[in-house]
Amino acid sequence: MTAARIDAQRLWGSLMELAAIGATPKGGVRRLTLTEEDRRARDLFARWAREAGLAVEVDAIGNVFARRAGADPTLAPVAMGSHLDSQPSGGKFDGAYGVMAGLEVLRTLNDAGIRTRAPLEAVSWTNEEGSRYTPVMMGSGVFAGAYTLEQVLAQKDLDGIAVGEALRAIGYAGAARPHRLGAYFEAHIEQGPVLEDTQTTIGVVQGALGQRWFDVAIAGQDAHAGPTPMELRKDALIAASRVVLEVNAIARRFPDYARGTVGFLQVKPNSRNVVPGEVRMSVEFRNQKDATLNAMVGALKESMAAIEAECRVAVALQEVTYFPPCQFDPQLVAGVRAAAAALGLTHRDIVSGAGHDAVYLARVAPTAMIFVPCAGGISHNEIESATPADLAAGCNVLLHAVLQKAGIAGEARAAA
Ligand SMILES: [Zn+2]
Repeated sequence: MTAARIDAQRLWGSLMELAAIGATPKGGVRRLTLTEEDRRARDLFARWAREAGLAVEVDAIGNVFARRAGADPTLAPVAMGSHLDSQPSGGKFDGAYGVMAGLEVLRTLNDAGIRTRAPLEAVSWTNEEGSRYTPVMMGSGVFAGAYTLEQVLAQKDLDGIAVGEALRAIGYAGAARPHRLGAYFEAHIEQGPVLEDTQTTIGVVQGALGQRWFDVAIAGQDAHAGPTPMELRKDALIAASRVVLEVNAIARRFPDYARGTVGFLQVKPNSRNVVPGEVRMSVEFRNQKDATLNAMVGALKESMAAIEAECRVAVALQEVTYFPPCQFDPQLVAGVRAAAAALGLTHRDIVSGAGHDAVYLARVAPTAMIFVPCAGGISHNEIESATPADLAAGCNVLLHAVLQKAGIAGEARAAA
């Protein structure tokens, strides 16, 4: 391993300067995709990249690539990135960290005079958050072929402005040209509590959970709360309550990072003295393995049949969204683990419960992610927070994992 280390203060300074764009009173950022704030963030990234001698290129969906040449131009570049857009009341680190960490790695290599064999790129993907425009992870999704360009350029926001129009308005409608990657690394705050809870600095991300989302409709019968005896009711809310408990019990029963959540529930007529005749609710399951995900859904369907019979209601389950489980590249994941160990950092294997640009990139290039802790596991919130030391540690892991993959062709300064 080379003695090169990233500049922690420079990384922190860049993150803070970036966070001033769209800054909110409570210390977060509001930088919705393809807005004036997004343009200013992109412009700043592009300016810093050019100042670092990188070649900046924008593709047709507005993804921004900052490229550092390698010794062998025939090799596909090793890319590092994430996103610069935020939720309406988002934090300073979600996404921004991955882009700034990529830039910091390239700045560090400049300072150390290290030439890699493969070219390197720092990337900012368009519209990861999916707040102003759906679908989420739009730029990486187009790059990976999950959506066609025409499909997403026509998507409109609530004011009727199409993606294509918004891209042109901020000056980031680039040209479509083939762009292959040799590998992709994404550094990101965990957005969950595990690293903090276990006092671990680096999360070695194995992949992302698959997700199956359902709409559930339960039909019973409205009835007067007084005259209707308990055994003669068709109470949709009692049935819904049992579904809620069952979803939770299933997630606790199954292995491999099973998750089960009911986050939405609507009761009709929602009146104090009426037995509820109708409930609409959401159910979502997440798991690392498709087979287990299917078994979880099977278990729910089985118990629903019993709930229907015992509560004298009809339960309809409709699948609305499916994301397959994603396994990252074993060699790159091992490289992240080895880099964390060589740097003397505490680390543990972890699985991403959330979607990231890396999930789409994994379809077209060997991919890995590096997680660092965030305070209280809180994200998508203005109070989102991470320490300069943890962010620097994750960036150093990124540096060495990337060097391992790209190869070192030459180093100007001898190791200290
Ligand atoms: Zn993110």
